[in-house]
Amino acid sequence: MTGDSPYLFYQSRNPRPYLDRGEGIYLYDESGKRYIDGSSGAMVSNIGHSNPRVLAKMKAQMDKATFGYRLHFRTHPSEDLAAKTVSMCPQGLDRVFFVSGGSEAVESAVKLARQYAVATGQGTRYRVISRFPSYHGCTFGALDLTGYEPLRAPFAPMMEGMPKITAPTTYLDRDTLTEEERGFRYAELLREQIEEAGPETVLAFLMEPVGGASTGALVAPDSYYQRTREICEEYGVLLIYDEVMTGAGRTGKFLAAEHWGITPDIVALSKGFGAGYAPLGAIVASSRIVEPVLDAGGFQHGFTYAGNPLACSAGLAVLEELEEQNLIENAARMGDVLKARLEGLMSRYQFIGDVRGKGLLLAFELVADRSTMEPLPRELNAYTRLVEIAYEQGLIIYSRRTRGGYEGDHFLICPPLIVTKAQIEEIMNLLEASLSRFA
Ligand code: PLP
Repeated sequence: MTGDSPYLFYQSRNPRPYLDRGEGIYLYDESGKRYIDGSSGAMVSNIGHSNPRVLAKMKAQMDKATFGYRLHFRTHPSEDLAAKTVSMCPQGLDRVFFVSGGSEAVESAVKLARQYAVATGQGTRYRVISRFPSYHGCTFGALDLTGYEPLRAPFAPMMEGMPKITAPTTYLDRDTLTEEERGFRYAELLREQIEEAGPETVLAFLMEPVGGASTGALVAPDSYYQRTREICEEYGVLLIYDEVMTGAGRTGKFLAAEHWGITPDIVALSKGFGAGYAPLGAIVASSRIVEPVLDAGGFQHGFTYAGNPLACSAGLAVLEELEEQNLIENAARMGDVLKARLEGLMSRYQFIGDVRGKGLLLAFELVADRSTMEPLPRELNAYTRLVEIAYEQGLIIYSRRTRGGYEGDHFLICPPLIVTKAQIEEIMNLLEASLSRFA
């Protein structure tokens, strides 16, 4: 099927059919087989496939100009998208910088933070503390901030080795501490790391508010969000939220940060922001950070495709669709329905150890023993086996085996935010059939 293709991609080891077309939450291969896109690809296709408004808006832009370099022209799509983005973010996040993907967004956020420090006489600050496990991207800068051993290992000697603290993964200390105590305890790791590194060297703390591929929709105790924000303020450390996966409505708010009333200093967006219609990402920051950088001569950073009018026209239509179809509210409501249905599986399948997440960023984890949360043996390859069984049945889900911090097979169930109750039943029927075959 694909063995003769020169395209270096996973297909060579794991043949997949050719994609033909998409419609709503469904994808079709060239044989006509239908799949439910139960993970929105890689948590990207938030408004579903072939959305007519987005396609029309992109077509209209294509008929005018597909590219105009940002130093040569202003464009309406980029300025309109920036204004729309700010209007949907919490107050205080009022400046936008465009990029073409998540890794670029994370690196841009970090570079903006660093330039802010330099511009405000804090040039000794350069360390960015992140967490283990975590995922922030594959380019060198983002990878150095990523806590996922298999991706880091080959490149370890080539990276600075930025400090990392343990994320409050679901299982750690849950039998001995209350939720609130767990949150405080894991937040204190940030303070300890700042002290150890030397507070005058610490630039920023970077975290995913709800874990994605790294931890399978891990949500920290509420107290963790508040306390980490306080610690950052205490030490003058900038707080960067990586909302590449959680942003643009996936968790039932435009930013996941809103669930805890947190306004980070800088936020990274991608995935659902372009929703699969164009490679698009952004950082959103407060003027407090941006103004000193502009006063000092401007942001010494930028990518050729940044803010191009075609991608921005897609992004603008995506945000309009989110707003006008109330898709963020739908993510919250359907997320509750889907989560309850997933939790219902736990009485039938003892090997489901945990169901977690927010909105439509949901996951379950498979374990050998629920009482001890012992993981399934690695050799079982549960995380690939269940995905393959589901794929055969026509259900696409996303899985990883977390390594680092703790080990476990988790499965993300993250349909597009347009999903209906009836479609959730379709997903559950296929998932149950897959779990029965897996058992
Ligand atoms: N940050 C998070 C939280 C992600 O989930 C991802 C991708 O999965 C990235 C960054 C990197 O995004 P990209 O693959 O678009 O570079």
